[in-house]
Amino acid sequence: MSMNHIQFQPGLSMPEFIQQYGTEAQCEKALVKARWPQGFCCPKCSHEGHCVLYSKKRLTFQCNACHQQTSLIAGTLLQGTNLPLTTWFLAIYFISQAKTGLSALALKRHLGVSYPTAWLMQHKLMQAMAEREDHYLLSGSVQMDDAYLGGEHSGGKAGHGRCAKDDLVCVGYRQ
Ligand SMILES: [Zn+2]
Repeated sequence: MSMNHIQFQPGLSMPEFIQQYGTEAQCEKALVKARWPQGFCCPKCSHEGHCVLYSKKRLTFQCNACHQQTSLIAGTLLQGTNLPLTTWFLAIYFISQAKTGLSALALKRHLGVSYPTAWLMQHKLMQAMAEREDHYLLSGSVQMDDAYLGGEHSGGKAGHGRCAKDDLVCVGYRQ
């Protein structure tokens, strides 16, 4: 698994891109699929049953067996970013569509972010694309702290349940 899994088809137009990756939820879904094509699997104990919650606004999975929490972006190239996934996807789009490379300055203008931010994004993405190394982007996990922002409701198949911790609200459930 690598960044290549969320590369966009060549010639994808901007309206098509926006339609497919214009919202945070769409980007989350694409990233989940890139990381766990067969569905989430706990990186610590390989258990598949999990709760879905939001910690610091980030989609996070909590293992039902060992309670390990794995953020969608933890251990990835995007770890630690405060930017929306949509901004990252847009950056990937611009960079992947630019045949002769894209300067940090151009990225700054396209994304409306600061120059240091654009530089960092460009640097990370170019590196990831150059390395094409499995698990560069998608490996590992970090422990989340206890600052939960609460859950959101979505169409989890088995309905909403509560995890081990009272302040965690499951938004999806899978056994
Ligand atoms: Zn586990």
